[in-house]
Amino acid sequence: MNQSTSTFLGHPKGLFLLFGTEMWERFSYYGMRAILVLYLVATVQDGGFGWSNSEALALYGWFTMAVYLTPVLGGWIADNLLGQRKSIIFGGLLMAVGHFTLGTPQAWLGNSAEMAFYVGLTLLCCGNGLFKPNISTLVGDLYQEGDTRRDGAFTIFYMGINIGAFVAPLVIGYVGEKIDWQLGFIFAGVGMLISVAMQLALSNKYLGSIGIKPSAHGVNSGDEVSAKDRPLTSIERDRVKVILIMSVISIVFWVGYEQGGGLLNIYAKDFTDLNIMGWEMPASWLQAVSAFFVVTLAPVFASLWTKMGDNQPSSPKKFAFSLLLVGIGFLFMVAATMEQGGDLNVKVSVLYLIMTYLFLVLGELCISPIGLSLVSKLAPIKYLSLLMGVWFACSAIANKVAGVVGSFIGEGPEQINNAFSIFAGLTISGFIAGGLVFLMADKLVDWMHGAEDRAQVEHSELDQDPV
Ligand code: GLN
Repeated sequence: MNQSTSTFLGHPKGLFLLFGTEMWERFSYYGMRAILVLYLVATVQDGGFGWSNSEALALYGWFTMAVYLTPVLGGWIADNLLGQRKSIIFGGLLMAVGHFTLGTPQAWLGNSAEMAFYVGLTLLCCGNGLFKPNISTLVGDLYQEGDTRRDGAFTIFYMGINIGAFVAPLVIGYVGEKIDWQLGFIFAGVGMLISVAMQLALSNKYLGSIGIKPSAHGVNSGDEVSAKDRPLTSIERDRVKVILIMSVISIVFWVGYEQGGGLLNIYAKDFTDLNIMGWEMPASWLQAVSAFFVVTLAPVFASLWTKMGDNQPSSPKKFAFSLLLVGIGFLFMVAATMEQGGDLNVKVSVLYLIMTYLFLVLGELCISPIGLSLVSKLAPIKYLSLLMGVWFACSAIANKVAGVVGSFIGEGPEQINNAFSIFAGLTISGFIAGGLVFLMADKLVDWMHGAEDRAQVEHSELDQDPV
C-alpha cells in the first residue's frame, strides 16, 4: 500500500479521514430521512404535501430500498470506470444537489414542486450508489491482506457512521420540524458538501494513491492486464461464494434489526409507558438509542477485536453471534407482549425496548462492520466495489421485507397477539439461523482460504494458475 504510512491510535491516518467523510455523509442521509415522512404528511398549510400516513410510509419503504440497491451499479462503475475516489466525489455532489433540490422553496417551484421532490430523491439514490460502497471499500484498501486490525478499523469507521446518524435527527429534525422543512434539507446538503470538501482537501495527503484507478484495471501498473482479463482462480471463486452466502445471511439479521424504525417505533408510541416524572417523552426519541449504543460500544468492540488479534472468532462465527443476539433481543419484546396479556390499554416499561435495542446493537456490531470488512478482504480486486454493492443490496431487500413483516401487526384488538407472534418468530428465526451459521462456519472459513489468518496468508496460494 502506498498511502501515507503514519498512524493514529494504531491505524493509518487515512482511516480517520474516511471516518469524517462518512460521518458527514450519514449526517446528511439520516437527517434527510428523519424529516422525509414528516414532511410528506404535513399539511399544505404547514409547508408539507398533505399525504396520508400509508402513502408516505409506502414511499419511504421504496426509497430506503432503492437507496441500497444502487450501490451494485455504483460499485461496478468504480471498479471499471471511475475508481473509488472519483466515485465518492461524484456521488457526494449528486447527493448534495439532491438535498438542495428537496430544499428548494415550494413557492419558487409552483406546480413542479412534487416533480422536483422526485428528482431530488432520484439524485440521492444515484449519489448513494456511487458513494456508499466505495467509501467502504476504501477503508479496506488501507490494510494488507491478513492484517488483523481490519475488523477493528471497520468498527471505528462504523462509529463515524453512527455519530452522524445520532446527531442528524437532533439537528436536522429540529430545524425541519420547528423552523422550516426546506431549511432542514439544506442543512443536509451542507453536511454533504462538508464531506466532499474533506475528501477533496485531504485525500491526497492521507490516502496516497489508493482508489484512484479503477480496480479492474489493476492496482499497480505491472498488473494492468492481468487483473482485468484473467479469469478468477478457484480460490477467488470460493471467496466470492463466501461473500454471497454471508450477504444473504445478513438479510435475516437486517429484517429483525429494521423493525427498529417501524414496528418497534409503533410499539413505543402505542404500548410503552413514555412517562418520565410526569412528562411524556416523544416516541421518536427512542430512535436515537441504537445509534447512541453503537457510538458507545463500537470502541469496546474495536479494541476487543484488535486485542484478540489472531484469536478472535472468525467472521462466520461473529455473524452467528449476531443472529443469536437478535434472537435474544426480541425475547424482551416477547416478554413485553406477554405482560400486556392481550390488553391494549396496558403500557409496558420502556426498559423492554431499551434492552431489545441494546441486543440489536450488540448483534449489529458483530455483523455490519464485520460484513464490510469481510467483503473488503475476500473480494477479488476487480469485483471489489461491485461485491460491496451486493452486500448493500441485501440490506435493500431486508428493508423491504422488514416493512412487510412489521405490517402484520395489523389494526384493532388483535395487535398484541400479532406482535407477540412477530417477535417470537424473529427470536426463533434468529436462533435457527444463528445455529445453522455456527454449523457452516468451518466450511465457510475453509472457503476463505486463509484470508483471516495471517500465518496462512504469508504462504498464500493466491498466485496459483487460473482454472
Ligand atoms: N447503519 C448502517 C449505515 O447506515 C448500516 C447500513 C446497512 O447496511 N443497512 O451505514
